[in-house]
Amino acid sequence: MKQQEIQLLKKELLKMKEEFETRLSTQEDSKESAGDTGELSNTSNHPGDQGTELFDRQKEMTLDNHLNETLEEVSEALEAIQDGTYGKCAECGKEIQFERLEAIPTTKWCIDHAKKQTEENKRPVEEDITSPLKKGDTSYKQELRQDTWEAASEHGTSSDTPDGTQK
Ligand SMILES: [Zn+2]
Repeated sequence: MKQQEIQLLKKELLKMKEEFETRLSTQEDSKESAGDTGELSNTSNHPGDQGTELFDRQKEMTLDNHLNETLEEVSEALEAIQDGTYGKCAECGKEIQFERLEAIPTTKWCIDHAKKQTEENKRPVEEDITSPLKKGDTSYKQELRQDTWEAASEHGTSSDTPDGTQK
């Protein structure tokens, strides 16, 4: 691979690294603000709310893991560039096509062996990484929170008058 091409990919990887790090810290923030929702569903004692909350948390964790993994791959690729081992297939040692690296800068395998890796590990396709990461997720989460909020406040209103009498 040309030095020029490596520099280009390095730039791309650094950009990815920055983006993932930002995304991870943004998620930390949203987790803190989610504390309000947690309190609400606890006081409402509504099993449905807790289920939603749990599901929400699990989704967040899965996303975190995915981000962490990807970030690790980006770091590994950057290390490989420094070591001069970047762009070679971990399986057969052949140079990976520049076009492929351009699309997936974190890949460690040539196109033939990438397919094999995916099948063996039963992991999501590598191509996942380069797509705008789970953009729909945020709105989905907000929807969930809104549901929780509505269910909780509904319950809260009825418990304002526990004996059923109203002025
Ligand atoms: Zn290979």
